[in-house]
This record gives sequence, structure tokens and C-alpha cells, in this order.
Amino acid sequence: MLSRQFDADRASVIQRALKAGNEFLVEVATDAPASERAIGLAKDFGEVYASVGVHPHDAKTVDKSVLARLEELADDARVVAIGEAGLDFYRNLSPPDVQKTVFAQLIALAKRKKLPLIIHIRNAYREALEILERENASDVGGVLHCFAGDAASADRAMQLGFFLGFGGTITYERSPSRQLVSTLPLESVVLETDCPYLTPEPHRGKRNEPAYVRLVLDALAKLLRVPRDMVEEVTTQNARELFHIEQQSGCDRGAR
Ligand SMILES: [Zn+2]
Repeated sequence: MLSRQFDADRASVIQRALKAGNEFLVEVATDAPASERAIGLAKDFGEVYASVGVHPHDAKTVDKSVLARLEELADDARVVAIGEAGLDFYRNLSPPDVQKTVFAQLIALAKRKKLPLIIHIRNAYREALEILERENASDVGGVLHCFAGDAASADRAMQLGFFLGFGGTITYERSPSRQLVSTLPLESVVLETDCPYLTPEPHRGKRNEPAYVRLVLDALAKLLRVPRDMVEEVTTQNARELFHIEQQSGCDRGAR
């Protein structure tokens, strides 16, 4: 929700998301300044938490001072994860070797801070899983967000204790992730927005917002042919487990 596309109505977007049944939101950063803004948003809204990281597109901007800044930001009490972190060999906006180095550095950061990872992978599942295995990322776990790999990659990720994140794409008739997600154990699945991108049907083509996660939930329940409430309960519990966010009692809600 840090995107400029939400500048005019960010607070109402968050209210709508909560009204639609999301119990909490995680704002995922793509670089150090965004990480700082994510923490700011999490301080303004009790149900928003922050993730601190650098998108693989921006890996080439990471130097000692950026790493030091992330190290510091990750200590904030509102931070529940390290990410984005990962490899994107589709556009290669940063050289692949640099992406790999920064990915390993972010995994090390997550391990030092004992925080789960939010992993971005595009056209690099084999390489990314190798790094996750080599760096013992299973110590902290995390989620492969907007999962678009094959069944073998899903297996490897689950063996490392990672969750697989699915968003609007599973509402698209021709998306291969529709088939894949219906073969996975629900205990390994979390739902996500990726807003303002990957807008679920029937809003495809317009700005995405977290309230539409309920459409992803509907699609998943239909694909699995199980009651919607069950999918809602399990995926919410999975997200709590993933980010170590405990159920708050009524009087604690919004306290900060
Ligand atoms: Zn991503």
C-alpha cells in the first residue's frame, strides 16, 4: 500500500481490507526507504505490520550502508519479516550474480534477527531454492510469495518449511497456479494481495487492493471444493504462524 496509487485513499483501503475479513496486513518493502515507510505505516495502523528488505530488481543498489540501515530497521517492534528478498531473472534489472549475493545477505539478516523471509522468485526457482537450502533458510522459514513454480519446486520449498503464497492469479481461468494450488496441502498455503498488481477477477485490469483477498479465498475454496470458512480459518492461522503474530484479545487490538 506504499504505492502512489494509494496516496489519495490509503486509510480507507486499509479500513475496507479489515472490513472484508483480513485480520491483519503485512506491508512488504522493496528497498531501504520503502522499509522505513512500511514501518511508519505499521505505526499508524495497529493491524498493519512491516517487512524490511530489497527487491532483487534493486539488488545492485545494496552496499554496506544499505545493509546497515536494514539491520537497524529490522529491530523495530513492528517488523515481522525480511523481504522482499530473492531472484528475478525475468527482467534482470540487477546482474544475476549481484542478486544472488544480496539474496544470501538478506537470508543471513533474517537469521540474525530470527525473522521469516518473504521471497520473490521469477524465472529462477532452481537457483533460488539452491540458495535457500545452502544458506539454511529453513532456520527461519518464510513464504515464497506469488508462487508460480512447478510441483517439484513447491515440494522443495515445503520441505524447507516454507509457505507458498497465492494471490489474484488463481482467479484467472488459464493460470497454471490454479491447478497447482489445488494439489497442495492447505496447511502450506497463505493468501496475499500483491496490490496494486495481480488484481483478482472480476476486477482484473483495475487497481488491486487488500480487500480483494476475499476473492482469492473464494476461488481457492471453489478449487478445493471445501467450505469457504474452513479455507479462511486455515489460511489466517497459517499467516499468523508464518509471521509469529498472535491472536490479540479485544482490548489489546490497536494498542501501540
Ligand atoms: Zn515480489
